[in-house]
Amino acid sequence: MTGEPSPASAGKRTTLNARVERLFDHATDTRSLFLSLASGKHLRFIPGQFISITIPLGDETRSRPYSIASDPENRGPFEICFNRVEGGRGVAWLFERRVGDTFDFSGPFGAFTIDRAPEAELCFIAEGTAIAPIRPMLKRALASSPAPKIHLIYAAPDHEHILYAAELNALARTADFSYETAIKPPEQIYDALFALAQARWVTRDANRTRHFYICGVGKGVIRLRDLLRGAGYERRSVHYEQW
Ligand SMILES: Cc1cc2nc3c(=O)[nH]c(=O)nc-3n(C[C@H](O)[C@H](O)[C@H](O)COP(=O)(O)OP(=O)(O)OC[C@H]3O[C@@H](n4cnc5c(N)ncnc54)[C@H](O)[C@@H]3O)c2cc1C
Repeated sequence: MTGEPSPASAGKRTTLNARVERLFDHATDTRSLFLSLASGKHLRFIPGQFISITIPLGDETRSRPYSIASDPENRGPFEICFNRVEGGRGVAWLFERRVGDTFDFSGPFGAFTIDRAPEAELCFIAEGTAIAPIRPMLKRALASSPAPKIHLIYAAPDHEHILYAAELNALARTADFSYETAIKPPEQIYDALFALAQARWVTRDANRTRHFYICGVGKGVIRLRDLLRGAGYERRSVHYEQW
């Protein structure tokens, strides 16, 4: 629609202003904010993209990316979802935002996206809040015709941090989508994801046509990427976003 901030404007650092319409606590340390543009326009984005939020801390101004967890087709407020981080002053500021508050951001940005689903089996790997960019990608892929076969491996320290579980369960009942969770202490999460990915997609068969989307925090993401590329999957078929 004319005049709307669009995916095409990604890269142009236009500052936009967001208003907090609603907040939802998934757990004591994990929250979603539902945001509208102060201009009243609708934010256009590609599933998987993020916004870059300007965080004024007094002694410094930070810019931190947060993935858009809702679908572009949803005409209501868009959603970001985040968790507390030890010593993380930027996200602590975000937790202090209340309904009616406004803040600046730029974007949408990012190439870790699915606009049109590839005609191949799709495999998603995520931990905790890193389901945020994958949620709209998954839904975009499921809405394509024909929808590819889709599998998600999702890890968290406990069931409370498996976000959107009811939605994922509902999708798994109706579509060619399956998912499995790994509940592990934080220090074992990437070992668990690695073992599952290896068992499902490396040692089980010789199929190397799958496409992967991996999102999470730290070096474990790179280990997963290297496992899959090293096993013979095409480099460009293994997408990842490391926080
Ligand atoms: C493309 C992109 C998209 C992102 N989307 C999200 C999102 O949707 N939700 C979200 O919660 N975060 C997201 N992040 C991380 C976020 O931008 C911040 O890095 C995070 O909130 C910590 O910022 P801070 O300023 O509070 O702490 P900092 O002092 O900047 O960070 C401290 C440490 O926390 C680590 N870290 C970053 N994110 C997390 C996390 N979620 N959990 C645990 N440790 C973390 C960093 O690697 C860093 O080592 C994203 C990062 C990138 C690069």
